[in-house]
Amino acid sequence: MSIQLGPDYVRAIAPYQAGKPISEVAREFGLDEAKIVKLASNENPLGMPESARRAMQAAFDELARYPDANGFELKQAISARYGVPQDWITLGNGSNDILELAAHALVQPGESVVYAQYSFAVYPLATQAVGGRGIVVAAKDYGHDLDAMAAAIAADTRLVYIANPNNPTGTFLPAEKIAAFLARVPANVVVVLDEAYNEYLAPELQYDSIAWVREYPNLIVSRTLSKAYGLAGLRVGFAIAQPPLTDLLNRIRQPFNVNSLAQAAAVAALNDTEFLARSARLNADGYRQLTAAFEAMGLEYVPSFGNFVLVRVGDDDGAGARVNLALLKQGVIVRPVASYGLPQWLRISIGLPEENEAFIAALKKVLS
Ligand SMILES: *Cc1c(COP(=O)(O)O)cnc(C)c1O
Repeated sequence: MSIQLGPDYVRAIAPYQAGKPISEVAREFGLDEAKIVKLASNENPLGMPESARRAMQAAFDELARYPDANGFELKQAISARYGVPQDWITLGNGSNDILELAAHALVQPGESVVYAQYSFAVYPLATQAVGGRGIVVAAKDYGHDLDAMAAAIAADTRLVYIANPNNPTGTFLPAEKIAAFLARVPANVVVVLDEAYNEYLAPELQYDSIAWVREYPNLIVSRTLSKAYGLAGLRVGFAIAQPPLTDLLNRIRQPFNVNSLAQAAAVAALNDTEFLARSARLNADGYRQLTAAFEAMGLEYVPSFGNFVLVRVGDDDGAGARVNLALLKQGVIVRPVASYGLPQWLRISIGLPEENEAFIAALKKVLS
């Protein structure tokens, strides 16, 4: 009999399914890379900000040296932007790193973590990696049911993950619902409020989550430079929490988890409000373009507050996979979400106008 390596809870993990890279689709389907449209990973279709490119070029000559383990300049930029001292900030190798640090710092094998059905795939992954027990709370209208989540918190619950807006469904929780939820959570349970798509929210929907961090010592707000800031390939995210919780996260953080180019680019991007505004405008226009097409085609979609839309492409449980394959053959990469329990749906990242148009044309062809 072969020897089983590693604990059962690690062997039970289903690996994260990332969006297919353009090069892989080109190889697999014999397509020209330049003609492939990738709307699969919620990346910024504008590319990275020029300011970030210049900052990286300036940092290039120092690459023989280790990065600043404390990320002083990046924390200074975050501190200035969000009005919190540096000892309230934890830097992450993407905000994925933050989500995992929280589980590693707070959850022991057998203890429970609460998250919603159809919420981000990394929550169950991070939970399972530490031998935690996931308590999956049924979604309401494809989003978080915060009353049910508060009620689901058990005696052994250490952590709750909330995504706002949520990925892959795009749903949004208004500030008053989150405030009411935070007031109900026991002080010994930490809430991670994952705001990866916050920068896409319309001004009237923006809320002050940092004020909640000041109020609640058990709250971690998580942000990323991967989405609206256009730096997904560099892997930068950060957490804001009160110093005791921040100290805990930093004890298990790898000292050099954010590399020097990433730190330099992130400082520039955080200060590039023009790029951020342009990204949000482009996204709002693209959202109208995609949803108008879905309505014209009679396709159901979930109203989204992020840079992607979940659309139902058929009534049978093979629909998502079938339409996805047909789109790939047309050179359009989107994201199937059967692994989320949504086999009739596809998630489409909002692209440039011409990319959205190419996707719409391919979808019409595939569904006709
Ligand atoms: C994309 C995403 C993240 C993290 O992305 P990173 O690139 O690791 O920062 C976190 N949460 C949600 C909900 C996301 O969609």
